[in-house]
Amino acid sequence: MSATLINPYEAMQARLRVAAQLYGLDDALFKVFMATNRSMIVSLPVLMDNGQWEVFTGYRVQHSTARGPAKGGIRYDLNVSLDEIKALAAWMTWKTAVVDVPFGGGKGGIVCDPNRLSLGEKERLTRRYVAEIMDIIGPDRDVPAPDMGTDAQTMAWVLDTYSMHVRRTENAVVTGKPLGLGGSLGRTEATGRGVLITAREAMQRLGKPLAGATVAIQGFGNVGGQAARLLHEAGARVVAVSDLKGAIKNDRGLDIHALMKHAAEAKTVTGFKGSEPMEPASLLTHAVDILVPAATENQITEHNAAQVRAKIIVEGANGPTTPEADPILLEHGVLVVPDILANAGGVTVSYFEWVQNRQGFYWREREINERLVDYMTHAFQATFATTDKYKTNPRIGAYILALDRVAQAMRYRGFYA
Ligand code: GLU
Repeated sequence: MSATLINPYEAMQARLRVAAQLYGLDDALFKVFMATNRSMIVSLPVLMDNGQWEVFTGYRVQHSTARGPAKGGIRYDLNVSLDEIKALAAWMTWKTAVVDVPFGGGKGGIVCDPNRLSLGEKERLTRRYVAEIMDIIGPDRDVPAPDMGTDAQTMAWVLDTYSMHVRRTENAVVTGKPLGLGGSLGRTEATGRGVLITAREAMQRLGKPLAGATVAIQGFGNVGGQAARLLHEAGARVVAVSDLKGAIKNDRGLDIHALMKHAAEAKTVTGFKGSEPMEPASLLTHAVDILVPAATENQITEHNAAQVRAKIIVEGANGPTTPEADPILLEHGVLVVPDILANAGGVTVSYFEWVQNRQGFYWREREINERLVDYMTHAFQATFATTDKYKTNPRIGAYILALDRVAQAMRYRGFYA
């Protein structure tokens, strides 16, 4: 079975079911969390550069707003589907609760191939999408951010389109913006920095330093690329990386700064001078201390989990491991730092960005990075304390920690019926 056939919303629900049972969640809240609060589907007519009109499908999903405005990225990818966006929205609910920032969970996406759109097409598509979802987003409703296939420029178009409609510049409507538009220092590398912080904590649990540890990274986009750079700068040895076009390795350690230059020019990591090619699938089973899946969902499955030789998996991507793979990794003694903790650095600095926008006062980079370390180490400790308390694995521990926080908010609020 192809990995992409695994429904990510069902993968989320499978973990939620286990966590809810162990935690003793009451039935009403369980039903609420298994469902998605709101899903919007929009058709987006866009004038293409060749003079033809194309109609794209877009989504914006809000899984929960119990703890605050929905929060989550916008993904441009051919594999986008309603169930994928629903899963990603739910993961945002749990993620914002794990790091304890006052947001709910949302996500958006457009079915398209961002690499085949011109800049103008991408801008028109983005603006039409924002105009369509205008009524359900906003600084107090739902705050988008970048995800796969989108970046700071895309967020600038979101800001501008929204602002033109509300007749004032509203920069808190979106995070991950360019610096000059109210973006935050440290946001671009925030997810990668969170991977670094949690990798260091996980190594510490094994009684080993991060310096000198070997690392393999699947994906060299924003998350994988920044994680590679930061881990490299922290003294870890990144020995293998991959992207959509292939994988490379160097057992002595890749020169990540030189690799980033190469990747910026060649638009791929493949062909890098200081490396030899490797089979992309074998990256996940390479003998390393730390494996960072930082690409997409359903990469570690029941078919390859038993072959994973890493001691630690730090999930930079959302949903890289299937529910069937979880017990296999556990049995093999692999320490998994789950996605809703490991990749929460991005949304944490998004929260800092939103706060800075609303107070109109901007922090120094040092303050942002220090606060990120504080939030992430707290979340890490809380996750593992919950894991120990419920005698479970860190993924379910993280779900229980999040469930408890969202359930508490729901109990105070009650149901409006
Ligand atoms: N798209 C990122 C994620 O999956 C960031 C979300 C945000 O900053 O709102 O966590």
